[in-house]
Amino acid sequence: MRLSRYFLPILRETPKEAEIVSHRLMLRAGMIRQEAAGIYTWLPLGLRVLQKVTEIVREEMNRAGAIELLMPTLQLADLWRETGRYEAYGPEMLRIKDRHERELLYGPTNEDMITAIFRAYVRSYRELPKILYHIQWKFRDEQRPRFGVMRGREFLMKDAYSFDVDEASARLAYHRMFVSYLRIFARMGLRVIPMRAETGPIGGDQSHEFIILAETGESAVFCDAGVLELPVPDETVDYDGDLSPIVKQWTSLYAATEDVHDEARFERETPEGRRIHTRGIEVGQVFFFGDKYSKPMHAMITGPDGVERPFQGGSYGVGVSRLVGALIEANHDEAGIIWPASVAPFKVGLANLKAGDDAVDAACAKIYEALETAGVDVLYDDSDERPGAKFAKLDLIGLPYQLIVGPKGLAEGKVEVKTRATGARESLSVDEAISRLT
Ligand code: ATP
Ligand code: MG
Ligand code: MG
Ligand code: MG
Repeated sequence: MRLSRYFLPILRETPKEAEIVSHRLMLRAGMIRQEAAGIYTWLPLGLRVLQKVTEIVREEMNRAGAIELLMPTLQLADLWRETGRYEAYGPEMLRIKDRHERELLYGPTNEDMITAIFRAYVRSYRELPKILYHIQWKFRDEQRPRFGVMRGREFLMKDAYSFDVDEASARLAYHRMFVSYLRIFARMGLRVIPMRAETGPIGGDQSHEFIILAETGESAVFCDAGVLELPVPDETVDYDGDLSPIVKQWTSLYAATEDVHDEARFERETPEGRRIHTRGIEVGQVFFFGDKYSKPMHAMITGPDGVERPFQGGSYGVGVSRLVGALIEANHDEAGIIWPASVAPFKVGLANLKAGDDAVDAACAKIYEALETAGVDVLYDDSDERPGAKFAKLDLIGLPYQLIVGPKGLAEGKVEVKTRATGARESLSVDEAISRLT
């Protein structure tokens, strides 16, 4: 992409309304624009990151055997009346009336709807187990939308739902999702800790929140430093095999959110030097809730014994849009964002330091074409801005590599490759630079 043809509305001033660094940087880097409190446009650069994050979540859900579908954002109130959640959900739910005075709502989550879908088609244990998921916008009329996309009102969530004939097999689904969450966040370069958690309005008796440790996080958390060292399973993990040793390893050291924290137990189980008490950002949560929805909605299946029973369920959410903010909280410096390679909007920023100079233009054109042909995402700054402004812009938007082409270096046949994360610079020939970055 040529910057001259792109749409990258960089802000010079630091927006005053933004309290935390990720919100400031997303606004300054032209990633998002606020349209109303907690409601954002994803500008082109932000959208590219959101899509990268979405794709990692999708690939790992599919790898774990979950099946994608897409449910609508609007739901009928009557559906939620079946489970008693229409009244219970409270003011976070955005309630809407259509022209026929029919009551609708903008879905904050989808347990009720997926249970109705399941009930319409599945009758027998032979069709189980199943895990269905979608990646869809949600709306929660948060009391205090803030921190940009971290606590929006409209936000993108991946939500998966599991269906099993009995509790033992439902636990296996929980394990699958648990392990796939470890992989999702690790692929984004994030250290995320599963912590015992309260179940809230989703309900149920077992739950873990997946938490990134950060001072700007909204919940207080307590854990054993040992969890920061645990290995994440690689892509060869067998989702049909026994995942319980992995889950056990990740849940046997103390880790809990403030809602379920037990100080006496923490002190008993965790040596003093390893006790971490800090704040965290919730990027995902998994719930086992048994027949909480299937029972009131009468979503019955016949077991091997011929007896009908409500299915055993769980739900599994990832805050896809929140992750974009969380990734910046975890990866930035004074100059701007430092994207991990797997979620970077472009891999390379190509800076032409003297647009209009024949030799520099030709070298940039050659590099640009070679990288594009090799399938490398490159943002080519072909503008006539001064070099300092170009460097600042590239540092701000945080692409993993900067390829800098100027007349002085080129006279000696050299261009420069700068690695954003380390600041390391290499002087290379044009061909070396191309092969270095493909
Ligand atoms: P929180 O405690 O932050 O309000 P939650 O526990 O209400 O989140 P869940 O119902 O567990 O949220 O939803 C699954 C995921 O969706 C959360 O783990 C979080 O990453 C994301 N999420 C929830 N609310 C928001 C929001 N207002 N803006 C952005 N992401 C959100
Ligand atoms: Mg909430
Ligand atoms: Mg929560
Ligand atoms: Mg939650």
